[in-house]
Amino acid sequence: MIVREIKAKSILSKSKISDYTINAYVGCEYGCTYCYARFMKRFTGHREKWGEFVDVKINAVRLLQREINKKRAGRVWISGVCDPYQSLEKKYKLTRGCLEILVRYGFPVRIQTKSPLVLRDMDLIEKFEEIEVGFTITTADENIRKIFEPNAPPIEERIEALEKLHSSGIKTFAMIAPLLPGAEGIAAYLERKVDHVLIDRQNYHYADWAYRKYHLNHAMYEKFFKQMKIDLSETFRKRGIPYKFLF
Ligand code: SF4
Repeated sequence: MIVREIKAKSILSKSKISDYTINAYVGCEYGCTYCYARFMKRFTGHREKWGEFVDVKINAVRLLQREINKKRAGRVWISGVCDPYQSLEKKYKLTRGCLEILVRYGFPVRIQTKSPLVLRDMDLIEKFEEIEVGFTITTADENIRKIFEPNAPPIEERIEALEKLHSSGIKTFAMIAPLLPGAEGIAAYLERKVDHVLIDRQNYHYADWAYRKYHLNHAMYEKFFKQMKIDLSETFRKRGIPYKFLF
């Protein structure tokens, strides 16, 4: 893993999904095989493989303090193209530093991660008037998780973290995206741990390697997603967990 400390030019960026997004890191230690964020490499000039480099924006907190005074309040997504609680956050505390500013200015926040390190910041999260914390969980099968997300925390740790947050009164959600085989088992683990669930499919562009490896084609994937939609709707409805498909 190549880690570089860099100085960013800006930090509170406009987002199509939320009003703003904050990415305190360029790159992600988890290196998930399906990660759409690898497109970043086109703009940052990294030659290393996705998952083998992280640039740390060491001035992220200072930049946010400067930028926030000039921007109207809006919802902030943390993070769009990296995991805000990848293990480097233990040392650099950039996500925490940004949250400290956002809570002071009353900006609503949506955190999305795969890491239980977010629990470190529960004291701060509890101070927000409007915040939700989501965990990405793509399958209930740990063997499949290891194929697609070899460097990310195990599923069980994510579910335990969701439970701790939810039972402390923090709004939580699960993001099932991209839908992987074994996703139909996730609902059983989410009862009384999330307020809602969002579900999205695989992006074909980034799944091409999987087609080659498993000799799959787009028609087989279409059939899989169609069936998953039926199965997941039934299982979430039965358990009374609010869910929304994004495809
Ligand atoms: S955790 Fe998210 S940002 Fe990081 S590699 Fe996986 S999908 Fe990409």
